[in-house]
Amino acid sequence: AKAKGDRAVFFSSEMLDDFQNHMRIERMLRLAIADREIEVHFQPQVNPATHQLAGVEALARWTHPAEGPISPGMFIPIAEASGQIVDLGTLILELACEQAAKWRAAGFGFRHISINVSPIQLWQPNFIEVVKDALKRHDLAGNEICIEITEGVFVDQSKQRIEKVLAALRQLGVLLSLDDFGSGYSSLGYLNRLPFDQLKVDRSFVSDIDTDVRKQKVMRGILELGRGLGFDIVVEGAETLEEVTVIRDIGCDAIQGYYYSRPAPALLIPEVVKKIQRLKPSEQARTA
Ligand code: C2E
Ligand code: MG
Ligand code: MG
Ligand code: MG
Repeated sequence: AKAKGDRAVFFSSEMLDDFQNHMRIERMLRLAIADREIEVHFQPQVNPATHQLAGVEALARWTHPAEGPISPGMFIPIAEASGQIVDLGTLILELACEQAAKWRAAGFGFRHISINVSPIQLWQPNFIEVVKDALKRHDLAGNEICIEITEGVFVDQSKQRIEKVLAALRQLGVLLSLDDFGSGYSSLGYLNRLPFDQLKVDRSFVSDIDTDVRKQKVMRGILELGRGLGFDIVVEGAETLEEVTVIRDIGCDAIQGYYYSRPAPALLIPEVVKKIQRLKPSEQARTA
């Protein structure tokens, strides 16, 4: 909304719409969490050279009975603003751990399930207890889950608290991933200080990397840096064979992207993974 002349507009009709929509979703979400309308879908992380599964990311899905699907890009920020992310995050952790236990019992080698955790959850006083309890109830080893945290978390004043929580997760054997690496407020300082196992390179470095030589250079630099510091590197968001091929050539541990699979319900994942392992040579990333 534009202010007319020098008259300030404090509250435009668009802002009011946004606000009302926000409040509506917040109300619906409260019921959705209680009624377990929230599910998780899973997206494979694939080693592009061997086609072995490197891990699987759990992604929250919400289908409202009347409104249809609502994307996490919409409801996660609202849940964070309202504090509902604590209950929502606990539910997602539970669903992901439940699935890990099922897959293990079925002999499906998923490696680990990656779970996105909001910075607000890290502030939850009993967060470590919640994680420990979920692992114990499902009889999981710490390293059967990986907690993904977006890098934006580390720029604010909360560093000490975050470092303590990460160290405690580490003690449980839980893997730690720095999500959306390179997307925002990168400070390379924390790469050295914080105990991550994995870097997830942000999708923005990937789109059209096959034709964009500068992006290839940036990707090489990130991989060299990450590898040099001992991180596993997962590249997010490769959608085409051309992108996958270039990324494989540059070298990474895994690719998570639509090319291999979109996020899908747990039941479909073992079949999806088999299909990836049966890709024809013409559908696989070649080496140049
Ligand atoms: P993220 O953690 O970076 O997850 C990856 C997102 O990229 C997912 O979107 C996934 O569907 C999408 N993606 C994967 N491959 C491709 C690709 O090849 N092309 C394109 N265009 N997109 C791809 P999604 O599921 O919509 O989730 C968006 C964000 O919402 C996530 O980004 C994460 O930040 C947040 N989120 C999702 N589930 C949860 C959750 O359970 N808890 C929390 N705290 N945040 C979540
Ligand atoms: Mg993630
Ligand atoms: Mg990401
Ligand atoms: Mg993200």
